[in-house]
Amino acid sequence: MPYFFKENYPYGLIIDSIREEINSLRQQILNDEEPLALTDKDLFLRHVTERILNKARPSLRKIVNATGIVLHTNLGRSPLSKQTLERVLEISNSYSTLEYNVKLGKRGSRHDHVESLICKITGAEAAMVVNNNAAATMLVLSAMAKDKEVIVSRGELVEIGGSFRIPDIMSLSGATLKEIGTTNKTHFNDYENAIDVEKTAALMKVHTSNYRIIGFTEDVSLVELRKLGDNYHLPVIYDMGNGLLADLKDHHIFEPTILEAMNANPDVMLFSGDKLLGGPQAGIIIGKKTYIDQMKRHPLARVVRIDKMTLAALEATFFNYQDIERAKNHIPTLKMLTYSKEELLKRAQTLQELLPVNGNSAIEPCEDFVGGGSAPDVKLEGYALTLHFDNLSTEKLERLFRSHDIIVHVSSDKVWLHVRTLMDEDFKQIADVLTNINETFK
Ligand SMILES: *Cc1c(COP(=O)(O)O)cnc(C)c1O
Repeated sequence: MPYFFKENYPYGLIIDSIREEINSLRQQILNDEEPLALTDKDLFLRHVTERILNKARPSLRKIVNATGIVLHTNLGRSPLSKQTLERVLEISNSYSTLEYNVKLGKRGSRHDHVESLICKITGAEAAMVVNNNAAATMLVLSAMAKDKEVIVSRGELVEIGGSFRIPDIMSLSGATLKEIGTTNKTHFNDYENAIDVEKTAALMKVHTSNYRIIGFTEDVSLVELRKLGDNYHLPVIYDMGNGLLADLKDHHIFEPTILEAMNANPDVMLFSGDKLLGGPQAGIIIGKKTYIDQMKRHPLARVVRIDKMTLAALEATFFNYQDIERAKNHIPTLKMLTYSKEELLKRAQTLQELLPVNGNSAIEPCEDFVGGGSAPDVKLEGYALTLHFDNLSTEKLERLFRSHDIIVHVSSDKVWLHVRTLMDEDFKQIADVLTNINETFK
């Protein structure tokens, strides 16, 4: 049985597994036990095989997201479509035009592959892509405001999970943060009064992606900031974060879109690739050519540069946006965010039909979330399959699912499988695990 393993697994891993099994037998003998695997060769080989398979299990692996949180940062934010991955596979599996211009037979630039596409779709003059939006922020500030001041409202000093904080990035970039206004109110005058002809390098607006300030509030719109920038010949930078290109208002997601923001004509705008854009992890910078050119030449550009696999995925993602309806159908994140209630109900019914015993499950309405620090105030109406077993605690059921790499939501002493975030191929995996659980806990 295990002889083929030498072809499939590293030799060292096989040897380690055999040694571990022998050691375990030795220990059992020392404990005055009589291990069966000592005399049963097949059993011994089965134990070794189990050890090999355990060790060979990748640490970074696919999981099933049954939480209903579409952009789950801990679970990898946006999943990519099969078509997008085909592009990644092709580019990473061979040599490519990464920095070679085939037409001219000369060195090319990696930015060229997506720049014209991004410009065409967003209407921007120029574009550049980097590792993520945090890197984009760092590069923009270093290139445009080093040793000078950038004016930001106190209501927009955002912290995104994992230690990205606007004030920290600002000081790391060499720019000085000039805070204005208060947490809840910032007026046009606050910006104007803070402008210092010598020191001010830019006016910056940051989208409060992951929180909302409500009640007695006021902020200055991008359109107004643009006017102020024009009056004082200062560039306006907009960190819009979410990267939403499709208008999702019909789906109750009221987030600013890239095209709306472009109407206000900021000099530079930046956003993530793997939030509402639905692409790979990346930071996308769009805006006036003079600024983007400065960034491309900046030494940090190399430090934060994007790799070819991501670039391939990003090109494929933007390709879909030439037709918004196509994007909604082809980009998994958008597809999940725009499911109708009827579609979700049908998905829940399909899942229920696959389950071994229907008795323990029910289809119930539930609340789903956009996640990924986007649209924190939006609850999406969804459907979940809820499970409750009489002879198995909900905690144990959750653990069993988790041991099969299925992440569920627990509430009201039930396990909730939100169907919005399930891939079609997840259905069978869930059904198989439940069959298994049913047989064990009859
Ligand atoms: C998400 C976000 C960031 C950080 O983006 P990453 O791509 O996660 O690095 C920065 N600014 C805003 C406004 C964001 O929403």
